[in-house]
Amino acid sequence: MTGAAASDTPDRRIVITGDVGRVCWKTKEDFSAMSEGFGQEREVAEKAVQAAALLCRRIQGTITEEVLEKKDRSPVTVADFGSQAVVCRILEQEFPDDPVIGEEDSHELQQDDNRVFLDAVCSELAAQGIDGSPEQVCRWIDRGGAHEYSDRFWTLDPIDGTKGFLRGGQYAVSLALIVQGEIKVAALACPNLPLYASDDSMTGVVFTAIRGAGCHVTVLENGRGDSPVESSRTENPSEARFCESVESGHSSHSASARIAESLGITQPPVRLDSQAKYAVVARGEADIYLRLPTRPDYTEKIWDHAGGVLVVEEAGGTVTDVYGKPLEFTHGHELSANKGVVVTNGPLHDDVLQALRKLESE
Ligand code: AMP
Ligand code: MG
Repeated sequence: MTGAAASDTPDRRIVITGDVGRVCWKTKEDFSAMSEGFGQEREVAEKAVQAAALLCRRIQGTITEEVLEKKDRSPVTVADFGSQAVVCRILEQEFPDDPVIGEEDSHELQQDDNRVFLDAVCSELAAQGIDGSPEQVCRWIDRGGAHEYSDRFWTLDPIDGTKGFLRGGQYAVSLALIVQGEIKVAALACPNLPLYASDDSMTGVVFTAIRGAGCHVTVLENGRGDSPVESSRTENPSEARFCESVESGHSSHSASARIAESLGITQPPVRLDSQAKYAVVARGEADIYLRLPTRPDYTEKIWDHAGGVLVVEEAGGTVTDVYGKPLEFTHGHELSANKGVVVTNGPLHDDVLQALRKLESE
């Protein structure tokens, strides 16, 4: 596992990240910063989402026109379970007492009819150097089966944005640690997000954040290129760029168009799947992400937000629900005390909330 120092020099160490099977450099400063307050959790979370995202990326590469034409969701199924197994296995090794509220469980996978999927998950894990019997793989997946709130737990979305995954578009692996109801650590891997907004020839980034210690991004492929992430400082609402879900069933496009109009925004929204939307606000490529309810009975799930929320907050942005209330991660797997989600760069937050209030009163 991590932390196996292969050699020591006065100013840097080589760390062999066993599951990912690669070597990366860390400075001594990195280590001393990480040794205080959730440093170990951040490091483990980064390694876990990196390994899971590389597995998902490999599976996404196998999706063919034929799969899409047949509307065959088997790549999503295999990647979803494989990703959860990878992350939960690492969390079990490093933090065996921590519960994990994950999106998946192995119940369906264990049905006789689904044996072919279970075998495929085992093969994908083996290809990544993780050998486990079908029973062991199901046990790893079910490590993510907690439902109830506790004082310290992780929440995991093994593939957020499955529609984007199938389309060859954006998706994310999102992991967060919640302690006493507060998100303390986040790791968000976006395998198809460009390294640099201006150049989409290289993709795959991992954002990590510790509350109070900022947000950083590294290259998915090799864990290198660690750089700080900051949201935009745009103050004039009419200059804002906003993003939203591709799926109009997940966030009302008509309501967001009315908000944009009321703010004087002229640029069309950028639509992308998954918590990659949090990532683009965090690094200043968009100023606003709106998730406006499409139906009164839908309650947002914690794994669809926890990782992204801390990434944005530590980059300087603000996240609340549509009424301006902070998201509450103390109600099991749902954000049952909140309605919708509003994410901004920070300076624009009050303007957006005011526009929402105006819309509601019309
Ligand atoms: P996105 O890629 O941002 O559109 O969000 C994907 C997530 O939307 C999935 O992981 C689902 O959990 C979630 N979802 C499903 N139905 C709804 C809904 N009616 N409203 C909001 N989110 C939803
Ligand atoms: Mg999701």
